[in-house]
Amino acid sequence: MNSLNSFTSRAPIPYARQSICRADVTAVTRALQSEWITQGPAVIAFEEAVKARCGATHAVAVNSATSALHLGCLALGLGPAGTLWTTPNTFVASANCGRYCGAKVDFVDIDPRTWNMSAAALRRKLVAARRSSRIPQIVVPVHFAGQPTEQDVIMELAAEFGFKVLEDASHSLGGSRQGEPVGSCRWSHAAVLSFHPVKIITSGEGGMLLTNDAEVAHRAALLRSHGITRDPRRMTRAPDGPWYYEQLELGFNYRMTDLEAALGTSQLVRLDEFIARRNQLARRYDRALRTLPLRLPTVEKGNLSAFHLYVVRLSRRAKISQATLHAAMRAEGIGVNLHYMPVHLQPYYRSLGFHAGSFPEAERHGAEAITLPLYPTLTESEQDRVVRVLRRLLR
Ligand SMILES: *Cc1c(COP(=O)(O)O)cnc(C)c1O
Repeated sequence: MNSLNSFTSRAPIPYARQSICRADVTAVTRALQSEWITQGPAVIAFEEAVKARCGATHAVAVNSATSALHLGCLALGLGPAGTLWTTPNTFVASANCGRYCGAKVDFVDIDPRTWNMSAAALRRKLVAARRSSRIPQIVVPVHFAGQPTEQDVIMELAAEFGFKVLEDASHSLGGSRQGEPVGSCRWSHAAVLSFHPVKIITSGEGGMLLTNDAEVAHRAALLRSHGITRDPRRMTRAPDGPWYYEQLELGFNYRMTDLEAALGTSQLVRLDEFIARRNQLARRYDRALRTLPLRLPTVEKGNLSAFHLYVVRLSRRAKISQATLHAAMRAEGIGVNLHYMPVHLQPYYRSLGFHAGSFPEAERHGAEAITLPLYPTLTESEQDRVVRVLRRLLR
């Protein structure tokens, strides 16, 4: 049977985990026995499947979302003279991609209700930046915990102030806003997905850049594999044999393997099932935790959250500190986590001049948040155990 479901009631419960079924194993085995192992037909099939699912016209699969963010920044024209803005309430990769391009990085504080980048704070910062001619080249909104950001509003600001929008949709494959699927890029220039095992679907490691701009897709695909082209129309001279290729730019090896892509395509079949189960468990947490001194996650009207994470915040009424609660939950075998320590307070970003007090909403969030276990194979009895322990500790 499925060894992944074999937790006893006392076994540790992680905050997140993959769900691998027999069809996934078959798909990877088949890919392993095919002609190709590295980037080949299975990668193309995965790109086609994700594109069709999300409604974008181009997809470039790579070895991680981190790589997709880097390629997205480069393809959208970010360079050492540029600036990237993102939210402090994210994984470091959303900011690091700007640094890889040699650009400056800055942050926009979060909305205290959604815990996503605040569109109002973004507007205020843009107005101030325009006065000093410091409009960023790229803004990277992150769909925190799976809840879509106010992309329509952010895209209006992009048109008004003249910057590119790169969505970090690592948490939100399968989510939607006003019926528009995350990844369609209706309200952005490009979007990035992650297929790390803790995310909505997995390919082991992997990521994808989605866009409706053919030239952005072309540049990302070129840079994914060393900046090399085998397309005679893109070459500087006529090829003198079938071995001939040209390196046009300084690219990378960010390729996804066919083994990973086969897993990703197989996982995508269960995307709706995963999203439904995550939402069902989230509503179950909502009901069970309502009376505790916690702030529960909100889902904005018109949004379907992918519920990558179920994050609650300790309210001021709580008589236990965040650190004590985290430690006590972990001591009970419940793998709680913290999403996120604000990125600007990481030593690396402090060394670039950031300090406490700059983004108070994100800092408050980081000081109160606790991520509870949530993944499709979490059972209701395991969830009940999480709730019981939490109730006892918060009493
Ligand atoms: C996981 C994650 C990434 C990085 O994904 P990888 O595929 O591990 O590189 C980037 N941004 C966010 C918001 C993430 O959660």
